[in-house]
This record gives sequence, C-alpha cells and structure tokens, in this order.
Amino acid sequence: MAILFDEIVFGPILSRRYGNSLGINLLPLDNKICNYDCIYCECGWTNLKKQKISFTPYPSIRSAIEDRFAALYHANVAIDHITFAGNGEPTMHPDFANIVDLVHRYRDQYWPKVKTVVLSNGTLLSRPAIHQALQRIDRPTLKLDSANEHYYKLINKPFHTKSLSNYVQQLAEFGNKLVIQAMFLKGNVNGEEIDNSTSKEVETWLNALEIIRPQSVVIYSLDRETPLSGLQKISAERLQEISQSVECLGISCQYY
Ligand code: SF4
Repeated sequence: MAILFDEIVFGPILSRRYGNSLGINLLPLDNKICNYDCIYCECGWTNLKKQKISFTPYPSIRSAIEDRFAALYHANVAIDHITFAGNGEPTMHPDFANIVDLVHRYRDQYWPKVKTVVLSNGTLLSRPAIHQALQRIDRPTLKLDSANEHYYKLINKPFHTKSLSNYVQQLAEFGNKLVIQAMFLKGNVNGEEIDNSTSKEVETWLNALEIIRPQSVVIYSLDRETPLSGLQKISAERLQEISQSVECLGISCQYY
C-alpha cells in the first residue's frame, strides 16, 4: 500500500540513517508529485493527471514550519536531522529555495547543530536556483540507481528525455558535499528480467561514481510494498559486497 504523509512537518521519525529525523513534506498531503515514476516508490505510482494539482502555498508551509519547530523545541523533543522528503520530489516545489533558507533560519534558532538533508532525484540540478539551494543543504542526497541508460529508464521511468550521462556530469560538477543514494533490486519490468546488483551493472555504476567522486554513498534495497509487484530484495551480503567495492574507490559507503 502506498504511503503518503498527511502533514507538512512530520515526525520526528526514528531512522537508522538519520536518528530522530524531522521531515519536511513540500508536496500535496493527498497526492504524490514527481518527475519520476520509480517502480519501487513507497508513495505509489505517479499519477500524471494529478500533477496539475497545485503545491502547498509558501505561507502555509511557513506557518507549519514556524509552529511545529517552536512546539518541538519548547517540548524538548530531540532532533538529529531535518529531512526534506515526503510525497514526491521536493525540489519541484516552486518555492523550494526560499523554503530551504526558511528551514535553515529556524534550524539555526532552535537546533544549530542539527544537519539538514534532502532526498532528491536530482533531476532539477540544471536549474541554477535549485543547484544553489541544494548546495546550501548540509547533506544533499541525490539518486543514482543505475548508470545504465536502459535500466535507468526501466527503474526510474523519468518523464523527461535528459540523458543519464548529462546527469552524471552534473553530479560530478556538484562538488564533494554530495551524497549518492542508490536502490538495488531485481524483478520483471515490462517483460524483462532486470537486476541492477549484478557484477556488470555494478561495474558500470562504480565507473560513474569514479567520475562523480561524491563525499559518500548510501545503498539499500526494498523494505516496503512496491507499486510494481514481484520486485525482489537484494541480500544484505550482496549489498555489503557492493559497499566494499565503493570503499575500494576511497568513497565511504553505508548499506541498509
Ligand atoms: S524519485 Fe523518489 S518520489 Fe519520485 S518516484 Fe522515485 S522514489 Fe518516488
């Protein structure tokens, strides 16, 4: 079953990766909006018709952040990270850059040591305002599930025609603050058996990481029900092997 967050500020949720993670959902509370349609998305399939629904306006987001941050602070709730995530791709919100600055202002006021994270598919990196806003985030975590164009289209199903090699180049130019996140899985997509954890696929992906040189990499496999049925999880042993291969490049890697 698809999971949608019904609040703008949600949690904190206890996360293995981010501890007590306070979530910021810039997408509608009753609908996923994304320019990808990943076969594993926890929010379910992307409904293109519903993409026309307007985003939550900035004043509502500002009020939610002001009220919730103050309430959590005065209740002494422990926060380890503030994470932009939620019902789709956060950078698609037209006020994403302003909201990043707003969140940083309140973070500095209440929890100056807390780091901000964004979980993004990185497709809007080519827009200067988005690129700069992502640079201001402490842990910009961008997606690269496969460096094979064919698999990329099968797994992420982008609604644009930008080439993957162009995206890899943009990631390489982002600088060493970048965290790359990758989902490994296998299953049947459009009648084709795919597995992005095979030696061949991982080698292609590692070659892209060598070009990008991110600060760190996070890899994981399926944890919840997926919109495409029949997808299979990659074993912890295989994830560990992939993680070790990343470490051999001199890039730290965590697997979940
Ligand atoms: S990029 Fe993220 S939100 Fe968009 S479809 Fe993929 S997993 Fe879902």
